[in-house]
Amino acid sequence: MSITKMIEQWDRKIDRLDQKIAQLQEQKELAIKAETWECESCNAENEIGNTRKDTLYWYESPHGCMGGDTWHTDRHDFYFYCPSCNAKYRAYHNKWALEAREYFAKGEHIYER
Ligand SMILES: [Zn+2]
Repeated sequence: MSITKMIEQWDRKIDRLDQKIAQLQEQKELAIKAETWECESCNAENEIGNTRKDTLYWYESPHGCMGGDTWHTDRHDFYFYCPSCNAKYRAYHNKWALEAREYFAKGEHIYER
């Protein structure tokens, strides 16, 4: 077999796997977004993908000559709201919400000092 043909064959195998991986990632996203959580306030079962998440930012004060004076995303906290009754929750108190943070519906950006 020529080296060119061999490389083409391997590339085709890798392309097929890349497509499979992309499919699985899409299925994973859909499955997690379809998962539900129960609102403690109105007992509605809400899909994670339909639940709005407000991203929180914290401020780093200026320090030194160039450091700080910038906002950072808070990876350990955000607000999310019941789509049925609008009750407000903090992800800080809900481990599952922190783990599923990427699958919520995008909401506002909140800058807190
Ligand atoms: Zn509710």
